[in-house]
Amino acid sequence: MPAYDPDNIFAKILRGELPCIKVYEDAAVLAFMDIMPRADGHTLVIPKAPARTIEDAAPEVLSGLIVAVQKVARAVKSGMKADGITIQQFNESAGGQVVFHLHFHVIPRWDGVALKPHTGAMADKDALIEHAARIEAAL
Ligand code: 5GP
Repeated sequence: MPAYDPDNIFAKILRGELPCIKVYEDAAVLAFMDIMPRADGHTLVIPKAPARTIEDAAPEVLSGLIVAVQKVARAVKSGMKADGITIQQFNESAGGQVVFHLHFHVIPRWDGVALKPHTGAMADKDALIEHAARIEAAL
């Protein structure tokens, strides 16, 4: 497996070198809005510890991370008034990974509503802020 790249986008967000719209943070985890959401309220949950994929993450990092994913998923479902939640996690390019810092996607779902396609278009910032506020309020 390639080495962890400390200049990946999420590492820069963690260091405060790039902005993000945050919904949750603790000593080990950061959760923020996906800038190109597949659904309104699409949130990313990442460990603060460097890990490229699920393979090189330490077990104690993973165990804390999945509990944070559950916490964020509950808030996303409640704050976005969703009917369900899709959790995704991709590893390496072949697995669909684009940003090489371990992350979980938490995507709210509504009955009969398909995921938006990956267009590469960034979402409206005000909409992302509004969704983040709804999720944060439900935490
Ligand atoms: P994956 O690596 O699992 O395929 O997905 C990476 C995710 O990160 C994508 O859903 C993409 O929209 C999101 N993303 C890429 N660049 C940025 C960024 O600069 N900020 C935020 N908040 N999300 C990003």
